[in-house]
Amino acid sequence: MLTRRQAIAASVLSAIFAAAPSGAQEQPKDKLKVIASFSILGDLVKNVGGDRVEVATLVGPNGNAHVYAPSPADAKRVADAKLVFVNGLGFEGWLERLVKASGTKAPVIVATRGIKPRERADGHGRDHGQADPHAWQSVANAKIYVGNIRDALIAADPAGKGAYEANAAAYLAKLDALEREVREMIAKIPADRRKLITSHDAFGYFEAAYGIAFIAPQGVSTEAEASARDVAAIIAQVKKQKIAAVFLENVTDPRLVEQIARETGAKIGGTLYSDALTDGKGDATTYIDLIRHNLKQLATALMS
Ligand code: ZN
Repeated sequence: MLTRRQAIAASVLSAIFAAAPSGAQEQPKDKLKVIASFSILGDLVKNVGGDRVEVATLVGPNGNAHVYAPSPADAKRVADAKLVFVNGLGFEGWLERLVKASGTKAPVIVATRGIKPRERADGHGRDHGQADPHAWQSVANAKIYVGNIRDALIAADPAGKGAYEANAAAYLAKLDALEREVREMIAKIPADRRKLITSHDAFGYFEAAYGIAFIAPQGVSTEAEASARDVAAIIAQVKKQKIAAVFLENVTDPRLVEQIARETGAKIGGTLYSDALTDGKGDATTYIDLIRHNLKQLATALMS
């Protein structure tokens, strides 16, 4: 039973809550407008920003950020933004010009800050010294992105500090669970089957973190074409090492990988999502779903 005083206190409180819609004091009138350069980064920003932030993504689902051509509408969106989130590590070669052309004063936040870049060395010296931008393919790295995003949002919108910290903590816990899921699944794949072919070299961080070897005829950017000699070398390698599966990607031309499959008898294991989320018709509209999808494709093809 409530005492009379408690009952009064309770009714006063409920009157206050009834008068003010829940959380109304916490919500800013206008959302913080931010830009993310590509879809995967956009999802990470949405998870940390929650409902205080409005995220516009430049390179959309299934888009290829290596070769993107920004539109005048993109310049307008960048001009209106309070923050511009980019991957960095040479991923968005077109971005600096876009930022300049837009005239924006918004800080450009490099989400990979603090990540040790992987450098590609393919034995031909082709991409020597070129950083590999695909850092998000390791979940541990995605956690570093999240920390950078949280800190930048707090700096731009200090009133949202509590919300951004809570959102980031909740999302980081999900990423921890995801990381465990990846390691448990890969542990089930026999060690001598943990190798496969993709078209461009987008999975180096995944390889380094989880111990699956990815061999790719195209370098870390899709701008460079694979040479006939590179393709011939890969075909020989697939045959010699008995690599069981080749994979397509959602952002690259499938013909090269199809040719390798044809000439080696390796099966096509499915489509991996490398540099972009899928649109609503696909099964990876979030970063977590993207990693889960890739994991399932790998495990299915390499264990059968
Ligand atoms: Zn790529």
